[in-house]
Amino acid sequence: MKHLFVILFLLTMDLGLSAQGIDIYQRPVNLEPDRDFDAIHYRVKLDIDIDGKQLTGQNTVILTPLRSNLNKVTLDAVSLVVTDVLDSKGIPLSYKQGEDKLHINLSGTYSHKDTVKFTVKYYLAEQVSGLKFIDKTETNPLQVSSDCFPDQARQWIPCYDYPHDKVTQEMIVTVDNNYKVLSNGKLLGITEDQENGKHTYHWKQSKPHSTYLINLSIADYTVIEDSLGALPVNYWVYKRHEQDAKRSFAKTPYMIDFFNRIYGYEYPWEKYDQVVSAHQGGGAEATSATLLGEGAVTTKQEEIDFSFEGIIAHEIAHQWWGDLITLRSWEHSWMNESFATYSDYLYKRYDWGEDEAAFDLLRKKNAYLREAHTRYMRPIVFNQYENPGQNFDSHAYPKGANVLHMLRFVLGDDTFFRVLSEFLHRFEFQAVSTQDFMQCVKDVSGMNLDLFF
Ligand SMILES: [Zn+2]
Repeated sequence: MKHLFVILFLLTMDLGLSAQGIDIYQRPVNLEPDRDFDAIHYRVKLDIDIDGKQLTGQNTVILTPLRSNLNKVTLDAVSLVVTDVLDSKGIPLSYKQGEDKLHINLSGTYSHKDTVKFTVKYYLAEQVSGLKFIDKTETNPLQVSSDCFPDQARQWIPCYDYPHDKVTQEMIVTVDNNYKVLSNGKLLGITEDQENGKHTYHWKQSKPHSTYLINLSIADYTVIEDSLGALPVNYWVYKRHEQDAKRSFAKTPYMIDFFNRIYGYEYPWEKYDQVVSAHQGGGAEATSATLLGEGAVTTKQEEIDFSFEGIIAHEIAHQWWGDLITLRSWEHSWMNESFATYSDYLYKRYDWGEDEAAFDLLRKKNAYLREAHTRYMRPIVFNQYENPGQNFDSHAYPKGANVLHMLRFVLGDDTFFRVLSEFLHRFEFQAVSTQDFMQCVKDVSGMNLDLFF
């Protein structure tokens, strides 16, 4: 065994020296930021003119200070233009907008025992990448589609936009009544305004999640209704997709059921929606409302050569790994991606069989080795990056998945899946670090795996 390690080590060293295409150690160190408060709830109201590509909005923020003598609050706000900030009684508060921040002077001084509430009113003066207005083409209808990962929610909602702060949220959106609106959580109702030909969707996410997981999707969608027991499972697709979408998404409830069982934790959200978006290639998990590329819907012929099943399973797995428990800073990207990637392997093992799954795991390993051979190598947990997206690479997805496969081998199936279940229960609706996971492995298995990690 020892020799094997030495050989592996030398081999890795050699690869590292000869093939470091990018010197990632030149990248800046990023630490989890300090924060003055814990944001509790965002009540976002938007009036959207889809044809005119315009938006006016307001966000009513409820927060609790994390320190004493809080008399100022700073939110993230990029591109959007603030027109007013009002306290809970409607009295204007002074504020300053600049350098991608909104600084608000509160009307008093507050401590950790207080709850502070205020409303920010604003409009969008330009098109932003965080909320895309997409023109109609031959293949897609006119649509509005959010893209909040990793830090673009702040372009259309003034908020505290870092994953370690989780909030509940309401999304109250008024549009012309020929469009449907999808967001996170449960649909509380639709209010009609016949006179103006508009209607308002009221969505509520009543369990806390991080801002990069916000979804707002608007188009003249066809909604295909499905379910898993009492859980609504719907597919929001283009009209031309209707027949194929029923088949392409048909396994969704079966996949949720599979993950319920292997994680030992019931699906945590009020519903599961999947929505087709023209700007997505693969998928982007959002809490209870995943965005998928148009390729997710395939004809019977296309399906033979190209299946989206792995991506559909991967994004479902994120509803636990990423959405229920969330990386507390971007250095822990593997807490989201390695677990979701390993989960799509587990699904394939279950549904496609041992051979297909073994090939999938090999393919994942090779994807990592290609990056290691030709670009760079880094520790899986890594706090040097210019932007968070750089940590969402083949070290995070396929390598981490293979490391989890090794961990499963070391722990054995029973213990490995008990660890996953315990971890999800212990840290549900919280932001987590790799150290939290290491501690959980130690607590459940009784094994000191510091050396493994
Ligand atoms: Zn993912």
